[in-house]
Amino acid sequence: MEVLDSLVIGAGQAGLSASYHLRRRGLSHVVLDGDAAPGGAWQHRWDSLAMHDVHGVAALPDSVAPADDAGRANVVVPAYFAAYEREHELPVLRPVRVDRVSDDDGLLRTSAGDRSWVSRTLVNATGTWTHPFVPRYPGMDTFLGEQLHTHDYPGPLPFRGRRVLVVGGGASAVQHLGELAPVTDTLWVTRREPVWRTDDFTPDAGREAVALVEERVRRGLPPASVVSVTGLALRPQEREAERLGAYRRLPMFAAVEPDGVRWADGRFERVDVIVWATGFRPAVTHLAPLRLRSPHGGIRLDGTTAVADRRVQLVGYGPSASTIGANRAGRTAARGVAESLGQPAGRQV
Ligand code: FAD
Repeated sequence: MEVLDSLVIGAGQAGLSASYHLRRRGLSHVVLDGDAAPGGAWQHRWDSLAMHDVHGVAALPDSVAPADDAGRANVVVPAYFAAYEREHELPVLRPVRVDRVSDDDGLLRTSAGDRSWVSRTLVNATGTWTHPFVPRYPGMDTFLGEQLHTHDYPGPLPFRGRRVLVVGGGASAVQHLGELAPVTDTLWVTRREPVWRTDDFTPDAGREAVALVEERVRRGLPPASVVSVTGLALRPQEREAERLGAYRRLPMFAAVEPDGVRWADGRFERVDVIVWATGFRPAVTHLAPLRLRSPHGGIRLDGTTAVADRRVQLVGYGPSASTIGANRAGRTAARGVAESLGQPAGRQV
């Protein structure tokens, strides 16, 4: 079996960027992607999410990003990624869902069902989309209405005429309410008081926010979402929902009942639907055999390099979990791979 210089898992923004930079360095690798088609998580975003709704998709290296008015995000970005893979002849194999990566006598063995690959290094770029997080609340299983996570949000229209409770204090909750409130009755609950950005969000403020998440990851803590440190902002398309009062938030309820939710002080609200906009977790269970996790619950990184095993790079994780961060992380990871292989870090072909 050929021993590859590296192996990339995931062909979203982070994995494609890493593959581009590995190729420039002349490093042999394949990219294994669990999805049947190009586009990473973008192909699964809801139909009503247009390019002008997203917070910006950074250009992949050596290319031009799609325009803001280009149409539906779940069509435009996958088409952009597909063209990029073709143009740069990136070695993507799909669908290949990796089950585990383990040490094999000093090399890394990556397995997917009965297939496996052996490489000297690894770049993990599996994102978070496949690991939606739903917290547990008493009575959840007794609810007679519909419960769904952002992962399965179909856009606002199926909820017309139904009372919808949105749970969560992140950008997804703000976006869902922006769409839902103009067409149906909504409620919003968050654990903490949301932090709204009042001034214009400057690049410096953005860098500071990313640095805070970087610091958590350097210490081996689970990465916080970037929004938790940047604060939330309303965009023009959310002003109607704001006018309708959709962003007056309630504190978290204590329990779910068959036809609604109840707070500790006895307050009850009847709801037909609960949308759990409660975020995602890094999709890293296949890395468990490598024992990368620190006692603090996260994977400690030095840049993109796993401190517990310097053959492994993590991109799109923590501070690089944005399209611009994932892009940069791809370049850093290729440098980390080169270093781990003993190639001069500056060498590119
Ligand atoms: P993904 O795009 O998720 O790609 C991961 C790939 O890995 C997928 O193709 C998947 O199939 C594959 N994979 C996963 N597990 C395995 C496995 N075990 N084996 C093989 N393959 C596997 N960021 C922005 O910069 N701007 C935005 O507007 C924006 N909007 C967002 C909206 C939502 C609702 C969410 C959840 C996130 C948003 N983000 C945004 C964050 C952004 O999506 C990500 O940071 C970036 O696109 C993720 O790229 P990625 O390559 O890390 O992951």
